[in-house]
Amino acid sequence: MPDNAAGIPVKIIAVGDELLEGRTADTNSQRIQRAIGGHGVQVALIQVVPDRPSDIVRALDRTEDGDLVFVSGGLGSTPDDLTREVVADWAQAPLAEDPAVRAQLEQRWKKRGLKTSSGADRQSQVPRGMKPVTNPVGSAPALVGRLRGRMLVLLPGVPQELEGLLKPVVLMLHDMGALPQPSPTLLWRTAQAAELNLVKTCADIRARYSNLDWSWWLTDWGVDIRLASRSTTAGPGDLAAAEKELDLVLGRLVYSRRMESLPQVVQRLMLDRRRTLSVAESCTAGLIGGRLTDQPGSSGFFRGGILAYADEIKKEQLGIPAAMLREKGAVSRETAEAMATGCRGKIGTDYAVAVSGISGPDGGTQAKPVGTTWVAVATPVAVFSRQYRFPADRQRNRLLTVAAAIDSVRRVLEGGDDKSPWAADDSWCLPS
Ligand code: ATP
Ligand code: MG
Repeated sequence: MPDNAAGIPVKIIAVGDELLEGRTADTNSQRIQRAIGGHGVQVALIQVVPDRPSDIVRALDRTEDGDLVFVSGGLGSTPDDLTREVVADWAQAPLAEDPAVRAQLEQRWKKRGLKTSSGADRQSQVPRGMKPVTNPVGSAPALVGRLRGRMLVLLPGVPQELEGLLKPVVLMLHDMGALPQPSPTLLWRTAQAAELNLVKTCADIRARYSNLDWSWWLTDWGVDIRLASRSTTAGPGDLAAAEKELDLVLGRLVYSRRMESLPQVVQRLMLDRRRTLSVAESCTAGLIGGRLTDQPGSSGFFRGGILAYADEIKKEQLGIPAAMLREKGAVSRETAEAMATGCRGKIGTDYAVAVSGISGPDGGTQAKPVGTTWVAVATPVAVFSRQYRFPADRQRNRLLTVAAAIDSVRRVLEGGDDKSPWAADDSWCLPS
């Protein structure tokens, strides 16, 4: 792999009227960025253009000799899918039927008991100089090749198809010398830390290892941190040294060092320990149970839950005393703990997690503003709880609650049944 591929500019062209009308968000560019991240290339330009040949041509004209250009969308068989033809025309690379692609498409339709669609005529056309890459999800192959000095990659617009093709495409680009070896990359997946707090926590280390490439991004569960040593000034030992220091300061905030989700981690821990879990959800009304059962195999630990949105259900199903609800309120330490304990007893699980909060926009008071949320975890030997003050709108507050509840269970599993899963400096938490 020649070194000179490092630093080559990547340009992305996302084609689709829907992307410009606010109907669809351009997530494909993001997927492309992730797939090539760490390969020592840099995305220099993303252009979003309508399904119009003149606009696609103008976008292609904005790329330069030596660029690696990804084009997403317009490889289908409907009349508005024009990418293949426009690129062939722009590069003066005549289209010709590729018999192998044709055979694959026919086989695909036959398997599904259908007659070959007329779309196969167009989808088996390949511009001279490009190679097809089989689509593992849909019909249209990706097309890869060097035309007019650019390494061009044409990908279908359907996100699942694009995602399925990116892996073989990246391998092919690597084999063709258009993408360098991925540089060593480390990942920390964190939960229950506000991004700003995390940046502060890492500030010293970041300053000392500024020759490494640092990136941060928000996820459904919290914030991911990625560290790579693509820069030529980083010594081979720098990454390992920074890793040790980061492990120390991040501590309990890290739920995984690889690309797995928080519920996947909790499921793994639960199954390893042969423990069971139930949920008592007020403000999230089932969202926590939903996410805990995203993965196949979740029945091995998740038993069920009580969706106690109304106070009557908290009383009837979880045994919360009316006096407690009247005097302390539904959003209180007492109620959250009683919900967790009641749920654990009623469903008969090793652990139960309960949440009760005010997601907004209404319902807040001076003492309990919008975002006030109690999370409680009952274990075989204790019950722990903590008050959060989430800072966002209804939707985000609910997502933060889901992540906090699931992560608190993770922390109990890692830290021990008799230890509180929270520390004094946890983000969004009030002092206990
Ligand atoms: P098809 O065979 O479905 O026509 P195609 O390759 O022609 O596939 P498009 O028609 O451009 O792709 O897009 C198909 C669907 O994929 C669109 O309806 C849109 O919802 C989605 N899509 C297209 N481009 C993007 C993008 N950049 N980000 C996210 N979704 C996209
Ligand atoms: Mg289409």
